[in-house]
Amino acid sequence: MELTEQIQKCAKLLRGGGVVAFPTETVYGLGSSAFNEQAVARIFEIKRRPYFDPLILHIAHSGWLDELALDVPVSARKLIREFWPGPLTVVLPKKPVVPDIVTSGLPGVALRMPLNEIAIKLIDSAGMPLAAPSANLFGSVSPTTADHVADQLGASVDMIIDGGPCAVGIESTVVSFMTGTPALLRPGGTELEKIESIIGKVMIPNRAELVNHSPGRSEQHYATAAPLLQINDINEIPTAESKVGLLSLVPLDSSGFPPNVKVTEYLSEDGNLREAACNLFAAMRRLDAFGVDIIAALPVPNMGLGMAINDRLYRASKK
Ligand code: AMP
Ligand code: MG
Repeated sequence: MELTEQIQKCAKLLRGGGVVAFPTETVYGLGSSAFNEQAVARIFEIKRRPYFDPLILHIAHSGWLDELALDVPVSARKLIREFWPGPLTVVLPKKPVVPDIVTSGLPGVALRMPLNEIAIKLIDSAGMPLAAPSANLFGSVSPTTADHVADQLGASVDMIIDGGPCAVGIESTVVSFMTGTPALLRPGGTELEKIESIIGKVMIPNRAELVNHSPGRSEQHYATAAPLLQINDINEIPTAESKVGLLSLVPLDSSGFPPNVKVTEYLSEDGNLREAACNLFAAMRRLDAFGVDIIAALPVPNMGLGMAINDRLYRASKK
């Protein structure tokens, strides 16, 4: 079926209460109408996602913002002007029209406009905001191709649109405007440095505060099948396991590795953090597919997209 036809078919499914998977620039999303509570409930069921973990609403026009959010502070508007469409989600006080199941009963709603033509056409044709978390089982590695979605959820979704690999490949940065000070709930595809250059200092909640702001930010997430261990350098590569997979930012000289390192994945030839973020989830999946006993992951510089990569590695290590 031609792409335009697929989009039309999906839009119709969505209007009828269906659940479809579609590409965005971050990862593949599992979407339903934001206003159909039964359809939203099906997203939670398909993903086996706890109901306390709220969903991001995806919109196609900035005009929809004021229909969903009660109050949009000037600093939020500045970020939206700069980064939408793109990998930035803002959490704003919600209007009553947003069902509680979407926000897990929280007073705020998370909103984003994706930078992907298929996603925008789909939302526009459906004619309503789409509630759309990543199209994977809760807690596992996020999908960056349609095949990743089909492997895990193919049997349970109404349709999958294949838009090729995701251009950014890591989830959106989430900034909350629910208290006086903007707070970073999740590092992601929009660099914190760029955000702060526009609105000034953003608060970075500690782990305890984060759970209050954002209950879904549970520590364990993005789990590979093999346990993932964060190491500081190659001297910390575990020696007890017989098959180690090594994950590093750049290619390394393998002559220094212990013999139990059976496979290596590097994220970018020249250490480009944007490229590295884009390759991260697929590299984690390939290491799993190789059947390693353990994945040893080296850190990346904690700046720009590196913050999002380190966050995902940290949470993958918490399984
Ligand atoms: P995901 O759907 O996996 O990309 O995750 C969405 C994340 O965005 C959640 O786990 C929260 O961290 C955050 N989020 C979404 N909606 C809200 C909300 N209403 N209030 C606070 N945080 C939210
Ligand atoms: Mg997710």
